Amino acid sequence: MIEAESLSLRYPGGREALGDLSFRIDAGEMVFITGRSGAGKSTLVKLIANLLLPSRGVLRVLDCEPSRLARRHRPGLRRRIGMVFQDHRLLPSLSAADNVALPLRIQGAPDGEIERRVRAALDLVGLGQRARALPATLSGGEQQRVGIARAIVHRPPLLLADEPTGNLDPQLSVEIMALFERLGAHGTTVLIASHDLPLIRQMRKRVLVLEQGRLQEDFRPQAEPA
Ligand code: ADP
Ligand code: ADP
Repeated sequence: MIEAESLSLRYPGGREALGDLSFRIDAGEMVFITGRSGAGKSTLVKLIANLLLPSRGVLRVLDCEPSRLARRHRPGLRRRIGMVFQDHRLLPSLSAADNVALPLRIQGAPDGEIERRVRAALDLVGLGQRARALPATLSGGEQQRVGIARAIVHRPPLLLADEPTGNLDPQLSVEIMALFERLGAHGTTVLIASHDLPLIRQMRKRVLVLEQGRLQEDFRPQAEPA
């Protein structure tokens, strides 16, 4: 699903933000990326989302190698990746349902299919009753759930989230993580960048730890006691 070999990224004029990363993430895995502020978490998410290209090394995402992909094929790869942001980036003038519908409208899906899939995605995140609500009338946790519904409505095989609970209190954060876990159980590969170590530990999933752009640790939790 994702394969990095000696992956490095240097921002123009800056120092190396990621250096010599090698790892592999299989389809259906749920993986956390953690590390201090500035460790390179966002940069790694952007590389995988094909929003940045590596300076050195190889990165394969969904059987594509973005650096070798012709420019015209990049939107196709991006469409197979769902993105969730810390600030959820909903359009304030559109209802929850219309926000969620955006990726399908961009793809030119038929209206009936859009309606059915938007309803399924909102139900999945527990917001079936708030479809007509404007983002400003929703709580922070509800807004983030709309953001997640929008990220999965077109059924991408890969879901990326950059600090998805950064603005939420601990209780809501746990609920959002449970939601990601449920998506993972449906077969979506889920990759979450977060600095919230206590929350990550609670999830008992694989964790990639970055420190100053290097892969410091790649650990899987022990099997849960029977
Ligand atoms: P994290 O998400 O772990 O906080 P980032 O990936 O945002 O870390 O940043 C990693 C390093 O790259 C930091 O030193 C940061 O200052 C630098 N960096 C991030 N974005 C840019 C940019 N657009 N231009 C130059 N340097 C950047
Ligand atoms: P289908 O096109 O297979 O009929 P639907 O979009 O109607 O699928 O959704 C079927 C079920 O799958 C719904 O109950 C919904 O909760 C769940 N679902 C929808 N989208 C996703 C997704 N991206 N990941 C996981 N489950 C999903």
